[in-house]
Amino acid sequence: MQYQCPKCQSRKILPVTQANGPVTRPMVPKSLVILVPTILLFVILLIVNIGMSIFGNGSGQTLMFITLAVFIVAAIAGVMFWRDLPDFKISMQAFMQSQKKWKCRDCNHEWEN
Ligand SMILES: [Zn+2]
Repeated sequence: MQYQCPKCQSRKILPVTQANGPVTRPMVPKSLVILVPTILLFVILLIVNIGMSIFGNGSGQTLMFITLAVFIVAAIAGVMFWRDLPDFKISMQAFMQSQKKWKCRDCNHEWEN
């Protein structure tokens, strides 16, 4: 692929990342949205469980049940994300390409591809 400035036809161009403007967002799979907070919650529950085992009379049954349930949800979300991963990668690549904005080093003209 060859890019050049549409104004002065210079090839001395730089990619510019801009926060604003209409950009196509990557399709974040629902499994990832579930997976990340679930893992965080599981780690917190695990620490609480260990803490209660050391300093208390052992962790309560309810807490252990919740921890187990959170772990199962995290495991399911992990498997789902594993299956979503190829689509997610394609989506991310498309997102990176649509993000590309260019700036000419010769005339400072900016444009989008
Ligand atoms: Zn130019």
